[in-house]
Amino acid sequence: RAYNFNPGPAALPLEVLERAQQKFVEFENSGMSLMEMSHRGAIYEKVHFETEALLRELMSIPEGYKVLFVQGGASTQFAMVPMNLLPPGKTASFVATGSWATKAIQEAKLFGETAIAASSEADAYKRIPAIGELEYPSDAAYLHITSNETIEGTQWAEYPDTGIVPLVADLSSDILCRPIDVSKFALIYAGAQKNLGPSGVTIVIVREDLIAKPSITVATMLRYDTHAKNDSLYNTPPSFAIYMVGEVLKWVKENGGAAGMEARNREKAELLYAAIDGSNGFYNGFADKGSRSIMNVTFTLGNKDLEGAFVKESETLGFSGLKGHRSVGGLRASIYNAVPLESVQALVAFMADFQRRNG
Ligand code: PLP
Repeated sequence: RAYNFNPGPAALPLEVLERAQQKFVEFENSGMSLMEMSHRGAIYEKVHFETEALLRELMSIPEGYKVLFVQGGASTQFAMVPMNLLPPGKTASFVATGSWATKAIQEAKLFGETAIAASSEADAYKRIPAIGELEYPSDAAYLHITSNETIEGTQWAEYPDTGIVPLVADLSSDILCRPIDVSKFALIYAGAQKNLGPSGVTIVIVREDLIAKPSITVATMLRYDTHAKNDSLYNTPPSFAIYMVGEVLKWVKENGGAAGMEARNREKAELLYAAIDGSNGFYNGFADKGSRSIMNVTFTLGNKDLEGAFVKESETLGFSGLKGHRSVGGLRASIYNAVPLESVQALVAFMADFQRRNG
């Protein structure tokens, strides 16, 4: 297996892939694959509702929240959130933390009034604004944050208490990387393809009272209440992707739940950041120390040639996905839940060796 540091779709636990492989052709003595059977049948329904129940358990999702499985990726949520939660005359406030927050803002502008509660654009998005910097009206439709900026490698260390203003968060690249208090949020969304499973399904966790009626005329499939009223079975769901999410969640549970994931992720992140900080300036972390992500570790080398050589050599040794995003440059190691400590240990050893030869 490659040392998989891809930003998304990303590494899945080997055990999960092997278990799914065993059931790939013949699912539960049904004479067919899960992919071939009705989503209205008892076998699939069991998978569907068990996956939801496990997510509720692992994230301690309180009563009064709906868990939805939808399609279209987190990018569709950039539109669905304002379509459903931003009525005319109201403003949605955003914290501009980087590339993905910017995409969310641009999309919301198509549907209503937006405002910026705080921005770190002047600092090249190297940091998450302090909670004290946020300014938004008390009658804002919602405040939107991006929990983890996948491209810049920054992450909110703690979330704001927004009181009566609904807090909406994109957790695409850090859902279930640590325990969170779901009751602080009005709506959480996340594409599955980093911490939860393959691409093709997007998770939405939303307070029921917010989705009774969309803010504008909205296509049936883009209304949260359509999916909520039908337990995410209004139309054909991405059944195999949902099954895989369920298998990943079982693995998360076996490995200590959200707290177990946090311990695992902190160990990996600390090892990698220590290698960067201890390199006497050969490697430089991109994000400010206080805003560093435990999911995406971004760093640079002295020049582009050296960075190119690093990526090339790493690939010949079985490392995958270390090239930074084109908008930021440099290097990025994505160390989501499923990336084993051994991959990070191998990377740190390669970094030291590369420095010895090129420093
Ligand atoms: N938000 C964040 C934080 C992401 O990292 C990504 C994808 O990398 C997206 C949104 C877009 O997700 P999707 O590709 O599922 O539309």
